[in-house]
Amino acid sequence: SEDPKTRKDALMEMAQLGIPLNFESRASASFVVLIRNKELKSFLPTLRKLEQRFNNRFHYPYLFLNDKPFSKEFMQKVAASTTSNVTFARIPSDHWSMPDFIDPDEALRARNKMKAAHVIYGGSLSYRHMCRFNSGFFYKHPLLQNVDWYWRVEPGVDFYCDIDYDPFHFMERNNKLYSFVVSLKEIEKTIPSLWEHTLEYMLENNITSDWMSYFATKDGDYNLCHFWSNFEIASLRWLRSDAYDSYFKYLDEAKGFFMERWGDAPVHSLAAGMLLERKQIHFFDDIGYRHEKFGRCPEITNADLERKCQCPKDLVNFDNFDYHKDSCLPQWKSLTSQEWSNRDS
Ligand code: GDP
Ligand code: MN
Repeated sequence: SEDPKTRKDALMEMAQLGIPLNFESRASASFVVLIRNKELKSFLPTLRKLEQRFNNRFHYPYLFLNDKPFSKEFMQKVAASTTSNVTFARIPSDHWSMPDFIDPDEALRARNKMKAAHVIYGGSLSYRHMCRFNSGFFYKHPLLQNVDWYWRVEPGVDFYCDIDYDPFHFMERNNKLYSFVVSLKEIEKTIPSLWEHTLEYMLENNITSDWMSYFATKDGDYNLCHFWSNFEIASLRWLRSDAYDSYFKYLDEAKGFFMERWGDAPVHSLAAGMLLERKQIHFFDDIGYRHEKFGRCPEITNADLERKCQCPKDLVNFDNFDYHKDSCLPQWKSLTSQEWSNRDS
């Protein structure tokens, strides 16, 4: 294992040997992991894989966030599994609680109704706190105030390809502010009024976007496409902007985080659709990734990808989520077809 302090030394050595280098410093960036103590076991293999595929060459720090205190065991085992800097922090309680404009009884009735309708996490209050936190609060954490970029990681996710360049630098250099690897359809019952509120917000604030229609059906409803936020590399400066934050406040006051079950993924996606230019969104096609039962790998079209990716056979053949009926990648590819054809030629 490598000592993070030696990275500079190693670069110096390489320079002295005449190996050409881009003498880049690390981006102002951090992994952000919202996690519970009981998820330690499923997180450790994720951490090992992320280090091996990427971070043992870059040593970006990790920030672990929890609404409860982290256990000694959690902190010790995580710290022992990486040479990178780790910080364990508690979430401020006002970032994880019901605002006073929500009637708790009414919210409980809404949860019970959704539970009876067998909506996944429909009856869960903690899941709603999590979605609201990821929508409007994590980027306000005091420990992220001087950080420009984050990479969100969840316990249990897997990475199938070596990432041998710095995606934060890539984003910075290419004027990207938000990125994804998987995009898919949201469960409609979790967001019955999110689209309506979003359109209302755009109208009230005279916001126009030349690609918001990407998220609309031909009848003008939400087509349910969103970027899956369990993997995200994005700009904290953007999330901290007044534009993003006032959209979040508007949604929060519309009560849908508690009276419905709005996910942070469609919230981030619709915010990107209305506030960012389409070209500021990046699809990391070269990142092989799995979260729970959905995984994807790039099509292995050249020797470089062949060397970098070790994809499970079923992902290569029939189970690649890119080709699943609920994947929105075909829509994304047709929206961005100009770029794809430029790249291929
Ligand atoms: P799913 O991916 O939508 O099925 O939801 P998860 O259960 O994976 O939760 C999303 C992320 O939030 C994961 O990183 C979880 O570890 C984290 N998370 C979910 N609920 C809680 C909670 O109550 N407390 C904490 N600290 N983390 C949570
Ligand atoms: Mn998850």
